[in-house]
Amino acid sequence: MRRREAWTRGELLQHQSDGLRSLIAFAKSRSPLYAERMRRISSGSVHLQDLPIIEKKEVMSEFERIVTDPRINLADVNRHMEGVEDDECYMGEYRVLTTAGSTGRKGVFVYDRNAWTCLMAGVERGAGLVGIAIGRERTASIGSGSQLHLSYRRAVSEPEGSGLRLILKVTDPLQRLTDELNSFQPGILHAYPSMAGLLAEEQINGRLDIHPGIIVTGAEILAEETARKIREVWGGVLFNSYSCTEGILGVECGFHQGIHIFEDLCIVEVVDERHNPVPDGAPGHHLLMTNLYQQTMPLIRYLISDMVTVSADACPCGRPFRTIKEIHGRVEETIYLGGVNTGKVPVWPAHLSSMIMARQGVLEFQVELIQGRLEIDIVADPGISRKDTASVLTRNIKEGIESLGAVCPPLRIRFLDRIVREAGKMGKKQTVVLRAPDSGPLAGAEH
Ligand SMILES: [Zn+2]
Repeated sequence: MRRREAWTRGELLQHQSDGLRSLIAFAKSRSPLYAERMRRISSGSVHLQDLPIIEKKEVMSEFERIVTDPRINLADVNRHMEGVEDDECYMGEYRVLTTAGSTGRKGVFVYDRNAWTCLMAGVERGAGLVGIAIGRERTASIGSGSQLHLSYRRAVSEPEGSGLRLILKVTDPLQRLTDELNSFQPGILHAYPSMAGLLAEEQINGRLDIHPGIIVTGAEILAEETARKIREVWGGVLFNSYSCTEGILGVECGFHQGIHIFEDLCIVEVVDERHNPVPDGAPGHHLLMTNLYQQTMPLIRYLISDMVTVSADACPCGRPFRTIKEIHGRVEETIYLGGVNTGKVPVWPAHLSSMIMARQGVLEFQVELIQGRLEIDIVADPGISRKDTASVLTRNIKEGIESLGAVCPPLRIRFLDRIVREAGKMGKKQTVVLRAPDSGPLAGAEH
């Protein structure tokens, strides 16, 4: 994998097309579903765009026909997941992960030993980009705390020196997290951006006293304001990352020009609503991922509802992997508001995040659209004036929404002590909570 970092873009593309050809040949010969769906596709000369797209709901409903080991069955996998401990494998061979289910039905993904080795090597490559020598530094990871979630599983699966790894649950009380971190004193901190932001505030207030040299965030939108606060508080280097349970891995390099997607492991297509390719530099509506290292559960043009913009410029580090310049949020968390002139205007989670988090003293927020009204829950620093904050936020949001060409609906701002992180959703904070009638074109679909 290190050698591939020195490849030219052309060498990478050749590797992708070779990988795709052998993946298709394998999937057609071993997976009944792909055999049926791709019977007209010859694995000799394959064009990615000719291949059918697959969504999570199909993967789950056709689970036994997708997997290439006929012994695997979803009911058994579900039973295994109920009692799984540490790095335990299903049938002694397969590691099972689930998605957070924050966008509907949970997905279940089975990794064979070879795929897991690739994934872990990818994680280690990511550590290398960030400048971490795995097993050398005290590392604290605050994540879901579930064996079934990638953030936790890869941490328990890493060949760590004992005592070097602290794994904490994001759903634990902040006080407990602060105490544990104070006594552990991590050199490296991994956390969801919202949690890293809260911890930075704890450090400002003097309750937390840690000095990590490297902070890695991922799995949620990192607001510019939160990033600035994290950098100011710790003076450490902040790296944002992007990964998904289905197999994409990516992290920033030292040039901080965006998140490198490890494209030797997965082919990632950025597409519009109709699955047509979007040029680099323009925002996409969702992603189509083809995992090149996962044979037990082939995922070819699998739909992932993240909206991202890939940079049109190559990173100065010279790696052949494209970078994600911006993550706008999930399709299911996009609010559609009436346009000033006509039609509907999408408001992305990242838009709301920049309008709201720019206000000093706002620690966390969550937005819900209820019967045409935007309800905004705010967790704020107790020292700030709620009245002033509410009026500034109202103005910011109104101006922000209008600048997008939409009519701003009535707003209601509510101050809370905390926003509940649901363990069932892997403790991730949802930026926007939507009920079916108000959400976007993919609402109701189970992504
Ligand atoms: Zn780079």
